[in-house]
Amino acid sequence: MKVGIVGGGMMGVSLGYFLSQQGAEVEIFEAASHLGGLADSVVLSDGTSVDRFYHTILSSDSHLRELCAELGIADKLRFRETRMGFFYRGQIHSMNNIVEFLRFPPLNWIDRFRLGLTVLYAQLVRDWHRLEGVSVEEWLLRLSGRRTFENIWRPMLKAKFDGGFERTPATYIWSRLVRMKSTRSGASQKEEAGHVIGGYATLIDAMVDRINAAGGSIHLCSPVQEILIEQGRARGLRSSHDEHVFDAVVAALQAPVFRRMIPCAGEDYRDAIDSTEYLGVICPLMVLDRPLTGFWTLNITDDQIPFTGVIETTTYIDPGFVGGHHLIYLPKYTAPGSAWQQMSDEQITKTWLQNLQAMFPGFDQEWIHDFTVHRERHVEPLHWLNSSSLIPEFITPVDNLYLATTAQIYPALTNGESVTRHARQLAEIILRGRPGAANLSPDVVVSESVVDTARI
Ligand SMILES: Cc1cc2nc3c(=O)[nH]c(=O)nc-3n(C[C@H](O)[C@H](O)[C@H](O)COP(=O)(O)OP(=O)(O)OC[C@H]3O[C@@H](n4cnc5c(N)ncnc54)[C@H](O)[C@@H]3O)c2cc1C
Repeated sequence: MKVGIVGGGMMGVSLGYFLSQQGAEVEIFEAASHLGGLADSVVLSDGTSVDRFYHTILSSDSHLRELCAELGIADKLRFRETRMGFFYRGQIHSMNNIVEFLRFPPLNWIDRFRLGLTVLYAQLVRDWHRLEGVSVEEWLLRLSGRRTFENIWRPMLKAKFDGGFERTPATYIWSRLVRMKSTRSGASQKEEAGHVIGGYATLIDAMVDRINAAGGSIHLCSPVQEILIEQGRARGLRSSHDEHVFDAVVAALQAPVFRRMIPCAGEDYRDAIDSTEYLGVICPLMVLDRPLTGFWTLNITDDQIPFTGVIETTTYIDPGFVGGHHLIYLPKYTAPGSAWQQMSDEQITKTWLQNLQAMFPGFDQEWIHDFTVHRERHVEPLHWLNSSSLIPEFITPVDNLYLATTAQIYPALTNGESVTRHARQLAEIILRGRPGAANLSPDVVVSESVVDTARI
């Protein structure tokens, strides 16, 4: 079976790997000059290669750990105990153990108890469908109470969604609470975060080696312009260089990009694909000569500050692996059409540095080795209240054409763990053959990858 894969991000490369290991002849077409997509690396001014966006692996990411073992790179995984904090009204509060939690000033005893209960209650929910019709605001107000909602949840949600979150279901916060709790184990409830030495590029390179060894090939600098559809059937694709014929084509990228590639698919299908919306991100990477916060994540509960958190990955990556530098990511998620995405890199740099200075009065810009602004428009698929039936299915109405996209990963979060797990399951479906696969309801396709909360 000859399979053409469009997109060489984590999804496309892992699909290529799983398919090639089961005998499929795989070709991956990537528009950029390198693989990785959102999980790619950037080279700093001194030649050090680092993740363009922060990519944390949790100790509970079992599929990713299995995959690394299968590829012989498990020895490159590193985990460390990490700390998390909150920036609230100009002060940093550590939130890592029960004592710190009980001291957290914005909340009184009852609020703290209810906040703890919210986290615990989330772990007990097994049927996420019940949360799909409940707004995140209603759910959090009911469990945590008004004061906690106004002081903690509202500013965090407002920042995350770049404004309104009225249509966001409770599944959004539930999957986050379950994922974050999954990494805390034992009586101490200590949190561990980790990485692959060399970043996700190491994982991608290892999969590419296996694809090549199995006779597959990778085409870089090869943007696919059209997926060729004739009489309701995909017969191949046209890249910037050539036409290629395949038994099956898989688009492994975001829905709006896919839509542009299928002018000959039915108008109804193209409109349905169009309804998938995404949060974008503006995420400066600041490289310092010293640590800044000591926290893996500093959550910001002040909506005057444009970025949603301060993520210092060198709290769990030994700086020795990244040229001795300290890496700090300052993400701002952006709603579709957000004015933030219109700002120049210079404006972003100026605004971000002014805010950092206000947050950390002792911060000296002399410590900065590099400050680069990275941005993307299609990062996190948005899911609204009662909208899971609108998620584009893996099996498309066009014969031999499949769509593998992060929007299908719901309500789990989109990350290396869920993307590689999803890709493994989709490879099985392709190889099982279209007739059998057609019997799977969309819900099965979605639920196979996400329902088990232990896996989120
Ligand atoms: C700020 C940020 C923080 C994150 N944090 C984490 C984290 O802590 N842990 C974690 O595990 N994950 C994290 N992620 C998520 C992770 O990066 C993504 O879930 C994953 O990389 C998505 O992979 P993908 O292949 O689905 O999409 P993409 O990476 O977007 O891949 C799509 C690919 O298609 C290519 N393409 C587009 N158009 C064409 C065309 N016409 N022809 C050919 N190719 C084309 C693109 O160049 C790209 O390479 C984070 C992401 C971001 C942005």
